[in-house]
Amino acid sequence: MRVTVDPLVCEANGVCVGLAPEVFDLTDEDELVILAPDVPAGEADRVRHAVRSCPKAALSIEE
Ligand code: SF4
Repeated sequence: MRVTVDPLVCEANGVCVGLAPEVFDLTDEDELVILAPDVPAGEADRVRHAVRSCPKAALSIEE
C-alpha cells in the first residue's frame, strides 16, 4: 500500500500527523512529509483513517 499527498491541496493542518505520526510529519516550513510512503502493514489502518479524515482530501492510497 502506498500513500501520496497532493501538495497543492494540503493545507498543512496536521490532522494526518496526529492520526499516524509514524507515517506523516510536518516540516518547520509547514510542508507535509510522508515518512513511509510504502506503508508498513502495522500502520495501514491508521493511514486509512488519516486519509478519510483529511479535511482537504489531499491524501490518496494505492493498494
Ligand atoms: S490532513 Fe490533509 S490537509 Fe492536513 S496535513 Fe494531512 S494531508 Fe495536509
